Amino acid sequence: MTSTAQGELKQNPKTPVASRFSMRRQKIAEHRKSLPIASVEKRLIEEVQKNDILIIVGETGSGKTTQLPQFLFNAGFCRGGKMVGISQPSCIAAVTVAKRLAEECDVQLGQRVGYSIMFDDTTCSSTSLKYMTDALLLREALVDPLLSRYSVIIVDEAHERTVHTDVLLALLKKVQLDRSIGNKGLEVEAKTNDEIGGVLRGCQISPLKLIYNCSISTIIMSASLDARVFSEYYGGAKALHVQGRQFTVDILYTVHPVTDYAALVITIFQIHLEEKPGDILVFLTGQDEIESVERLVQERLEHLPEDKRKILPLAIFSALPSDQLMRVFAPAPIGFRKVVLATNIAETSITIPGIRYVVDPGRVKARTYDPSKGMETLDAVPTSKAQALQRSGHAGREGPGKCFRLYRQREFEKLEDSTKPEIKRCNLSNVILQLKALGYDDIFGFDFIDKPSSAIVKALAELHLLGALTDDCKLEKPAGDQMARLPLDPVYSRALILANQSNCLEEMLITVAMLSVESIFYDPPREKREEARTSRNHIASVEGDHLTYLGVYRESNEFLEAENSEEAEVDQTLRKWCKDNFVNSRSLKHARDIYRKIRGNVEQMGFNVSSCGNDMLEYRRCLAASFFLKAAQRQMDGTYRALESGEIVHIHPTSVLFRSKPECVIFNELMQTRKKYIKNLTRIDPVWSAHHHYNTEE
Ligand code: ADP
Ligand code: MG
Repeated sequence: MTSTAQGELKQNPKTPVASRFSMRRQKIAEHRKSLPIASVEKRLIEEVQKNDILIIVGETGSGKTTQLPQFLFNAGFCRGGKMVGISQPSCIAAVTVAKRLAEECDVQLGQRVGYSIMFDDTTCSSTSLKYMTDALLLREALVDPLLSRYSVIIVDEAHERTVHTDVLLALLKKVQLDRSIGNKGLEVEAKTNDEIGGVLRGCQISPLKLIYNCSISTIIMSASLDARVFSEYYGGAKALHVQGRQFTVDILYTVHPVTDYAALVITIFQIHLEEKPGDILVFLTGQDEIESVERLVQERLEHLPEDKRKILPLAIFSALPSDQLMRVFAPAPIGFRKVVLATNIAETSITIPGIRYVVDPGRVKARTYDPSKGMETLDAVPTSKAQALQRSGHAGREGPGKCFRLYRQREFEKLEDSTKPEIKRCNLSNVILQLKALGYDDIFGFDFIDKPSSAIVKALAELHLLGALTDDCKLEKPAGDQMARLPLDPVYSRALILANQSNCLEEMLITVAMLSVESIFYDPPREKREEARTSRNHIASVEGDHLTYLGVYRESNEFLEAENSEEAEVDQTLRKWCKDNFVNSRSLKHARDIYRKIRGNVEQMGFNVSSCGNDMLEYRRCLAASFFLKAAQRQMDGTYRALESGEIVHIHPTSVLFRSKPECVIFNELMQTRKKYIKNLTRIDPVWSAHHHYNTEE
């Protein structure tokens, strides 16, 4: 049963089941009709029929993501087994929106409506409306360069300009052209003419329709002219505006800047105790912050009188298991106030009903990249003005609302107008490897909307060093191919290939899975700190964080085996072990899922998953060989120098090597707060780095 249905059950305990369900259907039908986009359905379909490329601009919540695919389905765009593909900038958006749509259409998820994300595919051969991440759509093009099963592709949240969206923009333009002249494959060496003919005959290619959805309000648009940029890129494509619904939102600033969670929690409770009913949406930077605030809210709740405790904190971030993601959309029990603690995901790609108050600390986790140094960092930075406006807009979707910005007005004035496209601030080795695998050899000739020239040079050099490209920048066989096929960062794919050669693939799979999740350990409440420290000392490895993570994974596995839990109880047993060991159970569970998926991937590639048992030296050598681009050496003054970039960095206090300060380490992450910190480290022997040129042919 869905969460909405549960909400209604509570409200109408005496209504018979059948009529409760028809009421629900009626409610959904009414909701759909009330959306701003509903009144322009006919016009939209006509425009899609007339134009091959369309840009749709509308406020968040107007119905672009959930309604447009249904309009297309009803207008016959899915006849003959064709699909409408909707790309999303994140996994959470793909999952939650697909679930919502299945509910709206009253179909089982995975049938007519499904989602497909990197580690989870719920579609089947009869799926017509397919939500997926933009990264996944790029990968589909590897297998089917003409994207022949799709009649329409909607690039949702195109204005967010993730790096994958930017690559899709150019790629889809090319696919569309190829489909209209039916000559695709002529440049792809691997395909023979017969094969190309077969592909074309087999699917009777029709033109591909492209729709770009931009969730930008008219105020922001005039500031940054996003839609015009798209339209010009597509030779003057038509842009349509969907009128949104926006009530007034009072913006309140703080007198002093707020810097700690305690003050943020006070704001939440002030709203709860002083303001009219309505849910609260709080924007935080990541899982770490969300979980800390969640704990603080719970603690504070206990100090309130019984009748004031009717507040329901709910979290939404990408590592939540997909069955828990939908809880934020269900109405709070009567008399309760929901407090949704969300990452940036709630800014545009999902709309949560019931919100009347927004709390915005004004920060967002963003990538920055310096190609000259080859350094990518993921840090919390101030939002742009456009982002702040998007966030406050959420308070006014259903009625007048309030937005509490936890900074001073004069700081708002100083913010950038809009956010720089991600392609201008990230490492491109991953997408460039994908493009190479797709047969695009001339990366500089690739039609990027914003060409990131120096980052391209850097990425090509890095891919060459990693053994994915030959000296003349062609895909190296088989390593480059294998790396492109694995759904991981090239550095991690390469680590798996090397580990396969050194008999520690099992260990490296665990490592990569553990490095793919946010914070395995969490910061316990003050009274538990001592206990946590003792418990961690027992798991911590003197060799570093990678071995520590490996230990966590193995020990939890042994515990599960010893307890011999039934399938249904595994979660509970794991949670118990995590609690006793001060490990974040959501993260560990997520890592276990990722492990299973990538293990499946490498097995499909014919790798034999073997383990080095307790031979940790072999494994550490393999870590050194895999991550040699990120090695750092201790200096006289106790700081470290990153070898590739020459930058001065510090060991992050959460690392198990923080105190021992070994002479030479490799690291996986660089973060910048007041200082530059390196995280996830392993001690290596300095002489090893001389041997980093493992031969991939071995
Ligand atoms: P857009 O893509 O234009 O931002 P959406 O199609 O995502 O708009 O959402 C349309 C409306 O549907 C919103 O008003 C939102 O409140 C509602 N909605 C979206 N997802 C859910 C959900 N999971 N549960 C309940 N309502 C939802
Ligand atoms: Mg949307």
